Amino acid sequence: MTDRFIPLVDQRLATAGSTIPSPLEAPAGLLSDTFARPLQDLRISVTDRCNFRCVYCMPKAVFGKDYAFMPHSALLSFEEITRIARIFVAHGVGKIRLTGGEPLLRKDIERLIAMLSALRTPDGQPLDLTLTTNGSLLARKAQALKDAGLRRVTVSLDALDDQVFQRMNDVDFPVADVLHGIETAHKVGLGPIKINMVVKGGMNDHEILPMARHFKGSPFILRFIEYMDVGSSNGWKMDEVVPSAEIVRRIDAEMPLEAIDPNYNGETAERWRYRDGGGEIGLISSVTRAFCRDCTRARLSTEGKLYTCLFATGGHDLRALLREGRNDEEIATVIAHVWRARGDRYSEMRTANTEGLRQDGRKVEMSYIGG
Ligand code: SAM
Ligand code: SF4
Ligand code: SF4
Repeated sequence: MTDRFIPLVDQRLATAGSTIPSPLEAPAGLLSDTFARPLQDLRISVTDRCNFRCVYCMPKAVFGKDYAFMPHSALLSFEEITRIARIFVAHGVGKIRLTGGEPLLRKDIERLIAMLSALRTPDGQPLDLTLTTNGSLLARKAQALKDAGLRRVTVSLDALDDQVFQRMNDVDFPVADVLHGIETAHKVGLGPIKINMVVKGGMNDHEILPMARHFKGSPFILRFIEYMDVGSSNGWKMDEVVPSAEIVRRIDAEMPLEAIDPNYNGETAERWRYRDGGGEIGLISSVTRAFCRDCTRARLSTEGKLYTCLFATGGHDLRALLREGRNDEEIATVIAHVWRARGDRYSEMRTANTEGLRQDGRKVEMSYIGG
């Protein structure tokens, strides 16, 4: 393999701590990386904790009773998150997704949503503010989230069959409660709602058709996600990935499909619609058809580290800058420096080398960096 993922820039800035490059960045302006990818999306992980133990994300063997989650003092406060988000928005971010861990476990999350929904882009537009959840607390929280200014939600749901679902979440959580959460979110106007199903071969791939049948003709857009080698604890194997092409083939055989154009340039999901007018589905082919060339996402971890790729092994400590009293221009300068040096394209390189990539460090876990 000639191309190797080397998180050199990450490590250098991480150890350099609060060294601020000069000159200082202008208070606002667009940023693009070494492949001319603009900075447009920010995913913020608000907690590393979760009430599920999905086998592909937080397997019990690793995230057991003794697992040391972050103490509250390590977490960014809502004020710190909002300040960083404001700087990102001034530099091109128009879309913010809250994630985790399970974001609805973070106490008073609606207060953060209210703070973020008050932000405006440089041309005065509100943000596209959304959240990804496992749905377990959605029925209880949907109205408060909507009232705080959340626009929509994405709900993860891996099976309709209770036994299969409980085997996937590994905490015996019943599927009916998630379905009730989805309905409640829809009723309060948190839409359009997307439903994400991670397909793990041999575990829930026989649920592809029941899920497609269930959501066909509903207001919800079902999206199938290829099981990824994210983190270091899920024991990922290529032969457990069910390729999107195979998922389309199985659905099309029973409910004929046709491909449709993306909603916008760089959309991560390929779109297909039912030929009989039963709505659309999405396919997120992170493994078999990587979309790094269109990846405009930055990620902020629960403790305030900036990551430029889901598969990074190192992040840049923005919390240190905040807590040592750096001003917005100094923080913007570090963000700009990191983004301009960004050359991440892990999935494209994995596609070129399906045996997996050797890396110099441990990849961060999805529950820490946010999906
Ligand atoms: N707890 C929330 C939830 O499950 O929606 C938000 C965080 S979760 C890490 C975000 C998304 O990442 C979920 O849709 C989840 O299914 C997905 N995910 C986690 N591990 C994955 C993996 N190994 N491959 C593909 N998707 C994964
Ligand atoms: Fe929790 Fe979401 Fe990971 Fe499942 S995918 S363990 S719900 S963070
Ligand atoms: Fe973006 Fe990294 Fe995923 Fe590629 S592998 S799409 S660069 S997050």
